[in-house]
Amino acid sequence: MTVRVRIAPSPTGNLHIGTARTALFNWLFARHHGGEFILRIEDTDQERSRPEFTENIITGLQWLGLNWDIGPIWQTQRRHRYQEVIQQLLAQKLAYRSYETEAELQAMRQAQEAQKQAPRYNNQHRDLTPAQEAEFLAQGRQPVIRFRIDDQREIRWHDLIRGEMRWQGSDLGGDMVIARADGQPLYNFAVVVDDVDMQISHVIRGEDHLANTAKQILIYEALNALIPYFAHTPLILNSEGRKLSKRDGVTSISDFRNMGYLAPALTNYMTLLGWSPPAGEELFTLAEAIPLFSLERVNKAGSKFDWDKLNWINSHYIRQLSPEQLCSELIPFWQQAGYLFDPEADQPWLQQLTELIAPSLVTLKDGVELARFYMSELPDYDPEAIAQLQPPESQAILTALMDQTSPGDVDTAKQIVQTTVQQCGVKKGAVMKTLRAALMGAMHGPDLMQSWLILHQRQYDQPRLQAALRLAQGRSMESIVQPES
Ligand code: GLU
Repeated sequence: MTVRVRIAPSPTGNLHIGTARTALFNWLFARHHGGEFILRIEDTDQERSRPEFTENIITGLQWLGLNWDIGPIWQTQRRHRYQEVIQQLLAQKLAYRSYETEAELQAMRQAQEAQKQAPRYNNQHRDLTPAQEAEFLAQGRQPVIRFRIDDQREIRWHDLIRGEMRWQGSDLGGDMVIARADGQPLYNFAVVVDDVDMQISHVIRGEDHLANTAKQILIYEALNALIPYFAHTPLILNSEGRKLSKRDGVTSISDFRNMGYLAPALTNYMTLLGWSPPAGEELFTLAEAIPLFSLERVNKAGSKFDWDKLNWINSHYIRQLSPEQLCSELIPFWQQAGYLFDPEADQPWLQQLTELIAPSLVTLKDGVELARFYMSELPDYDPEAIAQLQPPESQAILTALMDQTSPGDVDTAKQIVQTTVQQCGVKKGAVMKTLRAALMGAMHGPDLMQSWLILHQRQYDQPRLQAALRLAQGRSMESIVQPES
């Protein structure tokens, strides 16, 4: 059998992590079996679908490296096909026109509610006579198309993740609408027509679709089509054990990307959301996961989203990058933060900065805060740094530092510190602390000697020493920052 799977996102929102994880499982399954992976955009819901969401979904999948073999295929381009199948089902009397008004349907629901019954359509227009239909039409009613669901039917399938599944026809809410009055086909119908036409062998999707699968199997039967295998993946849960949703903050792949997660880290992490390789390893690339992947090892239980684990995996992938690669990943974040530099001309400097901050990065976004120290002529002096500059010896230390030629390498920088210690008759710690306060505007941060060299290359060290001296002399920051002319 040729394996053909698909991801069929609706462009009614950005690429959600749940959809991305489902795409990933489909992709791994296709690659494992040498099959095909299709991208289908389910955009029949014209009111809620937006081109920017389609764009976000496509970019997100590409960024994750989940390349598709066929598509994107847009449902809106297949309208004629859905109409054709609807006509066929109508002709076979497997579907029919249903004329209730919205008010009538609401009254039906309210009556059921009053009797504590589950809401369902009561199938009352199943067998209308031509005369009844003509009368409804004369009243100006626009019919929807409903598909007959036999209440007595038991629907069964063997789910490749969840095992034996059974569903009662009577639990499916009555005859279901498959096309609206304006002709727009609805999900449960269009998805089957597509999956049949595209010869999908395995439908791998979230377990929130279980009830839909029961309905869809009935449509496959009506179309006399081969029913694919189904595999329903567990949901991704928040820390309270509920389905991860927008309310949990970050949920879309573009959010994760903007937060500074790397694509290989996210795919590695998402693969572990509901699946584990036979030997239990936690770090692997997409390519390494392909030969190991199987649906048998996908859990039934939901998987809790674990930020600590994602961060740990992301740090790992950050460490895998060469300084050049890491630098080019960081540049867009720095540009976004408004830092001024020339990505090409300043390349050696940016790379040196990258190497300095790399060990402290968990996400690329952390690079924004860490680089802030180096990106402007003067730092923001925090109260701790200002306090460090207050003792009278600070002035002497700063003056001595300024009198010496700035360092070109670490040895020279250390030498300057040493000379200052001797000249001022102070401890080395005092020089280092004053120097840190002066150069960085903060008492904590990356390696001081390296930082000095980096600042010196941009000629920010002398202005900072001068600014610190003024602070040490008790002048306010306003007198340090030159007013713009
Ligand atoms: N458009 C549906 C969704 O995004 C597709 C579900 C399916 O895979 O059938 O949930």
